[in-house]
Amino acid sequence: MASNLSDRLSRLVKTMRGQARITETNVADMMREVRMALLEADVALPVVRDFIARVKEKALGQEVVGSLNPGQVLVSIVHKELARTMGEGQQELHFPANPPMVILMAGLQGAGKTTTTAKLTRWLIEKKKKKVLTVSTDVYRPAAMDQLRTVTAQAGGECFPARPDQKPVDIALAALDQCRRQYFDVLIVDTAGRLAIDEALMAEIRDLHAAVRPTETLFVVDAMQGQDAMNTARAFKDVLPLTGIVLTKLDGDSRGGAALSVQQVTQTPIKFAGVSEKIDGLEAFDPDRHAGRVLG
Ligand code: GDP
Repeated sequence: MASNLSDRLSRLVKTMRGQARITETNVADMMREVRMALLEADVALPVVRDFIARVKEKALGQEVVGSLNPGQVLVSIVHKELARTMGEGQQELHFPANPPMVILMAGLQGAGKTTTTAKLTRWLIEKKKKKVLTVSTDVYRPAAMDQLRTVTAQAGGECFPARPDQKPVDIALAALDQCRRQYFDVLIVDTAGRLAIDEALMAEIRDLHAAVRPTETLFVVDAMQGQDAMNTARAFKDVLPLTGIVLTKLDGDSRGGAALSVQQVTQTPIKFAGVSEKIDGLEAFDPDRHAGRVLG
């Protein structure tokens, strides 16, 4: 079991007892502990390097060198910088002046897109008093269409009756048309995922994006994916102008370091966290609380 950053640093600081002051070399040793803690939390290596460089600059500029309680000072610097970075950008959903608002869900198969679509439907109905239509464009897995129909009903929304013999873009446009005619406030477009990134999937979601011109394009990523989350995020960011990230399965054992990797590689705000399989298991992402979790 990995120990948290405070414990790691206090152990290290004990070895410095008797010194007149904390030196830059001591700070370098301490930064190694920060690096280990972040790697154990599954933050991707290149992201850890950049982050460490920023924190080190702050640590040398502030009171870590020469301070009486260097471990705690450093933990606080790391925590603040982590929360600041993960909290960058506009975290609230953007509601356009003229409805309908269109939300496009992107991500790998199993990331939690369909579940999140239903949770978001519930959230929009309850918290924002919106009338919500969902649609599945996953023509490859009829079971996915059925799943969305079931969970949308549980959430209290309506699901557009798509058929697997239609083209994804045609389905999305027909749903958008119904949305306008029946005065829905929001259309959530759930898309097909693959187990790994592939060209056909990327071309399809790019076409869907061009057709429905969403206000929000949310990248759904499984926090348990750890280091791989960064590569998946980069691949989606390369083809889509993402506007937000949803980090799912934060109720699992992962320390959630994927949040930092994904935010850094996409420069896109993390808007929501999935915290259970249930329909009400969606929360606004809280960077400060999450920083505490990543650091253990
Ligand atoms: P999709 O293929 O991206 O549409 O993924 P699904 O929505 O079907 O989700 C895949 C699995 O992950 C399902 O068993 C969901 O119940 C589960 N899941 C999704 N989000 C969460 C979450 O936040 N917490 C937990 N524990 N499970 C989740």
